[in-house]
Amino acid sequence: MKKFLKLLGLGLLALALFILIKTFTFSAEESEVAQVKPQEVPDEALTRLQKAIRFKTISYSYTSQPDSAEFTGLHNYLATAFPLVHAQLEKKTIQYSLLYKWQGTDNTLKPVVLMSHLDVVPVDEGTLADWEAPPFSGDIKNENIYGRGTMDDKVSVLAILEAVEASLQAGLKPKRTLYLAFGHDEEIGGDRGAASLAKYLEEQGVKLECVIDEGGYLVDGMVPGLDKSMAVINVAEKGYVSFELTITTKGGHSSAPPSDNTIGSLAVAITKLESNQFPFKSIPVIDRQIEILGPHLPFIQKMAFANTWLFGSKIQEAFNTHTSTAPTMIKGGVKDNVIPTTASAVVNFRVMTGETTEEVLKHVVETVNDDRIKVTSISNRNEPSPVSDYESASYKIIERTVQQLFPDVVVTPGLIGGGTDTKHYESISENAYRFFPYRVTSSNVTGFHGINEHIAVNNYKEIIQFYYQLIQNLNE
Ligand SMILES: [Zn+2]
Repeated sequence: MKKFLKLLGLGLLALALFILIKTFTFSAEESEVAQVKPQEVPDEALTRLQKAIRFKTISYSYTSQPDSAEFTGLHNYLATAFPLVHAQLEKKTIQYSLLYKWQGTDNTLKPVVLMSHLDVVPVDEGTLADWEAPPFSGDIKNENIYGRGTMDDKVSVLAILEAVEASLQAGLKPKRTLYLAFGHDEEIGGDRGAASLAKYLEEQGVKLECVIDEGGYLVDGMVPGLDKSMAVINVAEKGYVSFELTITTKGGHSSAPPSDNTIGSLAVAITKLESNQFPFKSIPVIDRQIEILGPHLPFIQKMAFANTWLFGSKIQEAFNTHTSTAPTMIKGGVKDNVIPTTASAVVNFRVMTGETTEEVLKHVVETVNDDRIKVTSISNRNEPSPVSDYESASYKIIERTVQQLFPDVVVTPGLIGGGTDTKHYESISENAYRFFPYRVTSSNVTGFHGINEHIAVNNYKEIIQFYYQLIQNLNE
């Protein structure tokens, strides 16, 4: 027994030593990139964004029509605000979406598409009083520009146009053909906008180097323990599906309730789904993120990140690397003393890379395991995106652009839970990168589709500078 304890003690000591060695040898990757002086941004750029915010280019729902006066108004405004772009680039309008082609001189280089979208989500009328400035005013208060589109996503439409206009002004003749693609219905899936633009390019026989879109940001102070900003270039997005669970029973009078009450049974189904979560798992892009991020963290977190063989499951949980299960809607019942004959609930799933919406459906049916409950899909069934190459030349260009302008930022590839318009380009572009340097903090993150959407004036200038530098770098 004594010998056993001694052996156990030695084993534990060796294990602790191993964990510590892994931790101490876990060091940050050095970046050799030299800083560049950012392009000067004139104050008129702010006015141009303010004016663009004032067009109410709202996407309500798939069945409602876009407001043509607002969209056409915005198109016309852009034409006057960016004269060189409109004189020198080829423009194509498809429905209310815009595609610009900036012809390059070297046809051996595959084109790149800079993407964004012109539409915004509606504003909940009840929240108007909570806004610092009206949501379609573009007003500047305390060095912030307010309004729908300042985060998502007119901000990058305008910043891209500013950068191209300034590049034309500086006499840039691109080697690589660049497209600017601005959809008009991203907020309701992009099936008419981005999908038509991508289809048009496909018909022209275009094969792309990559597309660069929204969906990854400069994250400030949101990773516990990380005292640097993190630039997340998202290389993949989860899939999306919502299933409705509808139960049908004989109902009855509430004075004599059956043991399998309609609402109770539906509640059991939901509880089963919540307590039978999809397993967390590791995928290479998350492993890479852990490798990049870990050395910058305080000791305890660094130790966990350096020893994923031991702490991996906790980290995967923190990174939310599984198909998530979220009950989002429920309805049933008409009167307080009547057991309803039907009730229904909606559960939304964000489908993890490597899994499918069909597998989710199977999981739901098997887990609920109740013949009275019918399961139907009530949303688009978007499969998870392919994972783009985070070692590619174009990824490195985006990474280098960030490092040139934001020297103390940790750049990492990542996986995003939400969807973007990039899915429509999958057949013509192997790689899709989702990033522009909006500075997301814990206090402004609620502005996405929420109250007080805004951008700091300085941050808007940084975004223009980013696109300007990116355009130069794409031409080297
Ligand atoms: Zn968006």
